[in-house]
This record gives sequence, C-alpha cells and structure tokens, in this order.
Amino acid sequence: MSEKTGERYEESQLYKIRHSAAHVMAQAMLEFYPETKYTIGPPIENGFYYDFDIPQALTAEDLEKIEKRMRQIIAGGHPFIKKVVSAEEARKIFADQPYKLELIDGLEKGGMDEYGNPLAEKPEISIYQSDTFLDLCRGPHVENTRQINPSAIKLMSIAGAYWRGDEHNKMLTRIYGTAWKTPDELKNYLKMLEEAKARDHRKLGKELEIFTFDEEVGPGLPLWLPRGGVIIEELERVAKENEEKAGYVRVRTPNLAKEDLFLHSGHLPYYAESMYPPMELEGTKYYVKPMNCPMHHKIYGSKPRSYRDLPIRLAEYGTCYRYEKSGELFGLMRVRSMQMNDAHIYVPEELFEQEFMAVIGLYKKYFELFNIEKYIMRLSLHAREGLGKKYVDNERLWLKTEAMVRNAMTRGTVPFVEAQNEAAFYGPKIDVQIWSVIGKEFTLATNQVDFAQPARFNLVFMNKSGVEETPLCIHRAPLSTHERMIGFLLEHYAGNFPVWLSPEHVRVIPITDSQNEYAESIVRQLREEGIRASADISAQRMNAKIRVAQLMKVPYMLVVGENEAKAGLVSLRVRDGSRQDNIPPAEFIARAKDRIVRRAGEL
Ligand SMILES: [Zn+2]
Ligand SMILES: [Zn+2]
Repeated sequence: MSEKTGERYEESQLYKIRHSAAHVMAQAMLEFYPETKYTIGPPIENGFYYDFDIPQALTAEDLEKIEKRMRQIIAGGHPFIKKVVSAEEARKIFADQPYKLELIDGLEKGGMDEYGNPLAEKPEISIYQSDTFLDLCRGPHVENTRQINPSAIKLMSIAGAYWRGDEHNKMLTRIYGTAWKTPDELKNYLKMLEEAKARDHRKLGKELEIFTFDEEVGPGLPLWLPRGGVIIEELERVAKENEEKAGYVRVRTPNLAKEDLFLHSGHLPYYAESMYPPMELEGTKYYVKPMNCPMHHKIYGSKPRSYRDLPIRLAEYGTCYRYEKSGELFGLMRVRSMQMNDAHIYVPEELFEQEFMAVIGLYKKYFELFNIEKYIMRLSLHAREGLGKKYVDNERLWLKTEAMVRNAMTRGTVPFVEAQNEAAFYGPKIDVQIWSVIGKEFTLATNQVDFAQPARFNLVFMNKSGVEETPLCIHRAPLSTHERMIGFLLEHYAGNFPVWLSPEHVRVIPITDSQNEYAESIVRQLREEGIRASADISAQRMNAKIRVAQLMKVPYMLVVGENEAKAGLVSLRVRDGSRQDNIPPAEFIARAKDRIVRRAGEL
C-alpha cells in the first residue's frame, strides 16, 4: 500500500524503512546463530520478511529476543553504505553464503535481480553494509538505522518457505516482520489485523453457512451452500441488470475445449502450469478452461461483423479452472474453480476511450453500491525495449491505448498509479485494488486491453470504408469472481450483509407452539412479496431462537406471541437493536421491500 496516491511503494520512505529493517533483522539472526545461511529479505505489503537456512526451529521467545536486539542495533545509528562490486569481489565477500553465491551467478549472467526475479537489463552488482552486516542488494535503504523507529517495528511470525518457492528445494525459515513510521501507525495496523481475524471470511463463511470445502471434492473447489447460493444469485442479478443497461449480451460456453483452442489462444504451452492436466478422448486432448476469452472470440468470429454492430459486448458468468499450487490455496481468495463476472468487449479504435470510460463507470457504480470508499487502479504500461520480446510489437497501439486508458481514468476521476514495464504481453492492464471498511487491502480484478488476441483469432469487422479491420478487445470483470467477491464482502460487512444481499431477510419467531401456525402464515405472506423468510418452529425458548437468528446475522426478526396472533400484528426486532412492537405486517413489508428494491445500505 502506498502512503499517498500516485507514489510508487517501491520509491516510498516506508519501503526503505522496511527493507532496512529486514537487514537489521538478518544481522541480529547472524549474531544469535552464526551458522545462519541467509537468502533474500524483501519488503512486502505492510512489512518485510527474510528467509534463513538454519538447523534449529525458532520459537516465539526467539522472535522476542531477535526483536529486542534489532532495537539495540537501530539505536546504534549505523549508516547504510552502498558499494558497487565485481562478481569476483562479491563471491569473495559471500564465500560462505551458498545462496548468495547462487544469486551472484544470476546477477552476473543477467536476466535476474538479487531476489531471483526476472529482469530485463543486466544489473550492476552492489552490496550494502550497515554495522557488521553485509547484504547483496541494490537498495534503496534509509541513510541511517536511526531512521527506523524502534517502537514501530514488530516481528510477526515464523513460517516455512522453499528456496525460490520451489518445493524441490530446501525448506527455509521465514521470519515476517512489520515496520511503520510511527508507533501509532503500528498500533493501528495491529488493531486492524485483530479486527480482520474476527472478520476472516473462512471463519464467517462457516458460521454463516455460506460455503464449505470437502476433502473428497478436492482442495480449492468450494461448495456453495444454500445461503451462499442466494448471495450469488443477487450478485448475478446486479451484474445482469447493469450489463443489460450498458448494452451487453449474454452468452454461454462449455467448461472444456480441445487443446487446439488453447494452442491457438497462446495459453498453451505458456500457461500450461496454471491449467489442469488434459484428458484424452478419441485421440484428442481436452482441457478445462482457465479463461473464457478464447470461446468468446469464437462467438465473435461465428459470423461476419460490420462497424454498425460494434461495440459487441459478450458477457458470461463463466466457470474457470486454474491449477493453483496446494500451498497457495487460501479460503475463497485463492481457489481452483471460479465463477467470473466476465465480459469481452470488441471495439473499434475510435470508440475505445468511450467504451473504457463506461467500464470505469461500472466499477464506480459497484464501489458505491458496496460502500467501498478506498480503491486504486494500477495501470501497467509497456517499455519500448521490450517490444517484440516481452510485448506485442506494435508501438503505435501501445502508446495510443495507454494514452486512452490514462485519459479515461483521469476523466472518470479514478485514483490511479502507473507502473512502467509491467504490462501483459498483449496490452496495458489495469489492476484494481480495494480496501474493506477496516482498511484491509484486496485485489479485486484485472482489466486488460488486448490488441493481440483479436488478430490471433482473425477477428475482423467491415469498417466504414468497406475494409476489414481488427477490433480491440477489452477483458473486464468488475465484480471479480464470486469466490473473491463474496470473500471480500464477508470481511467488508463482517457478515452483516445489507438487506438485499442477506441470505435470509426475515426470521419469524413464535413465542410458543400455539403461534406456529400464525408464524407460518406470516412467512407465506412475506414470500408472496418476494421476501426471503422462514419461521423458527423449533422446540427452543424464544430467547434461544432470537440468539440463533442474531448469530446468523438475519437483518429482521418478527416475534409473534399470543397478543400479536390475536390482533394480526407482528413485533419487529432489527439487527441494529431497534424495535417496533405490534405493527401490521403490511407496514413491515413496505419497509423491507423498500430496502430490497433500492439495494439500500440502511436496515
Ligand atoms: Zn537491501
Ligand atoms: Zn478475457
């Protein structure tokens, strides 16, 4: 997270503080455990980590000890001094550090940075020294350890991590830490983490009976329970309504296709690692689809198109399958099957900016609907030297579409940052980050401008001059996947969904069995009005029934006793604690329907 919009995290003071704290932590580790082999320690979102190869297991007490020593090192006021060295010199300095030697080889060969990540240019080799600690590093760092606030750092946890993320390599010990500018910032962050834990979508999803996983079905393949199914239906309704208004048409495509299709799209062989392995049928290989795009391209190409038909907007809540590594699966956020709010817009160049503006408008509409106040779009651009290698070789279209996207975002007053040299192969991409009400960051979706796939699939339209022209394609998914969106919404609302999204609008609670029949008649009346309701006719006492409904975060309870039944009234208890005794059912129905129809935030 960057501190202010427009500043790249990698250039921020916070990034330097965290990177420097990682060095200080590694120094402390080496002092306590001189046999430590240290690998890499980059800053990450909200903090930093360092991976160490050590023979013993670390405990929570060890973390305390290391943290205490870090504070002493910081207080020493050691400058960070950079020195550019040759590969030969670097090898001497890190002679007894095998992981560093491996990284030096990579740096010397080029094509890799000191973290082992791919790099376009051949880097210089530099080291940073602070106090007694030396690291292979290109910075940036704070000038002096005193610029790290010793009361604003904390070591958070210990985890296992494979060297270079490869499970065939040795398991290392990773220590996670966090660092901020002030103790207050640290305090707020820790508070947010605690709140986030209580709102964890995996916990709420289970308690509120939204989704489940089953060993026999398989990891990363969520099963949506009836209550989750209701939320899915509501989200799709929102998507369909908005997309219909914006001129989208809906299509349906199969879950699998022949190998040829994915070879044609270029997913194979490059994307093969993220796909489920193929199945063979009558001598032909079939794959379950990792994306809907190629099938939508085929639908576009299924008949001749004229400029009069464009833009063509094909929408589908398509189910895709991706092979995420077991260790990377995480609740609903990282799954292997996902239902995506997908659409592909085929548009001539001259209508692109306008069309992209409309997509941005859709995002803003959804942000408002879900009360998402903080969001940012990250526009990833090409780099000239990568043309023809990392990027499609069409500089004119790169510059033009990048300018049009930038324009659309500026005119749409969307906060955005630009990232040089991070685009996808076939066009600029726009990643959308959102923050929940408690300030937890989520990646919502990626939009893509694409000027390679339409050409690959020979998609054309007859332009005004009667000449065949290739359209641009916009890939967009503003409501993300159901999995990611509902995971986010669970945490954002802490399970207290607005009425329209609540799996159950109303729970009718008879005080004794004698009112069961009356309760059931109220339920029938509510259902007739399109309100999701059920009666709790269990043998429990009224207070227990109320507690159960509260735990399920049902927005409205209607309590009916002897008096209510006799008078044909209901007593309303709202989730926020307010109540209205003895009101006619019609009065409550009007209130509930109003909230549902308007998709209102208030109860
Ligand atoms: Zn460093
Ligand atoms: Zn797509």
